[in-house]
Amino acid sequence: MNSFFADINCVVFDFDGTLAPNLDLANLRREVVKVTQAYAVPPTIYQDQMIVEVITASRGWLKQHNPDAADTYAQVAHQRILDIELDAAANTELFTATRPLLAELRAHNRKTAIVTRNCRAAVLQVFADAASCCDSVKARDDVVHIKPDPRHVEMALVEAGSAAAGAMMVGDGKLDMQVGRALNMRCVGVLTGSNDTQALTNAGADVVLDNIAQLLS
Ligand SMILES: [Mg+2]
Repeated sequence: MNSFFADINCVVFDFDGTLAPNLDLANLRREVVKVTQAYAVPPTIYQDQMIVEVITASRGWLKQHNPDAADTYAQVAHQRILDIELDAAANTELFTATRPLLAELRAHNRKTAIVTRNCRAAVLQVFADAASCCDSVKARDDVVHIKPDPRHVEMALVEAGSAAAGAMMVGDGKLDMQVGRALNMRCVGVLTGSNDTQALTNAGADVVLDNIAQLLS
């Protein structure tokens, strides 16, 4: 194990774009917006929101303006996300470095965790034995507060038996770096997802690597 991990006791990974190829999040958001438009929610209600947050904000608006439709809308929109995630997962394989990296970390007594906004079924479709290869797997449907809310990562750390001090966050997303920063973790950005070095650095990355394989070298 290289010196990069000398004072690290737990490594928390994002999933899509980090341990496996990225989801097409732009398309996913477009599909959710289509559902939302069908319920006549004004675009200003959700314009700057991420995917799940589009649904939360729009459901809140519907509760005020069309209460009978609010829960149906949320169900339909969440189902649309699930369908797309599971569809994508059926055609996705882990990066080749993922299993060796997790095994190497475990062999050197480092805890590992996966924290993702993807659903649990999609993660398990791509990585069936994730729960036995890692010390904690926390998907969107495993938690109430999803990242960038720090509680998502904190739940994984608790299950892994680690503290944020001495933990490392690895991800391709700006919000991975933001949540790592919020918890004073060491933040490692990877370029296998949707962001470049500048974006990850601005979001709080201590270091940016081409991919997770570089963690081993
Ligand atoms: Mg990601």
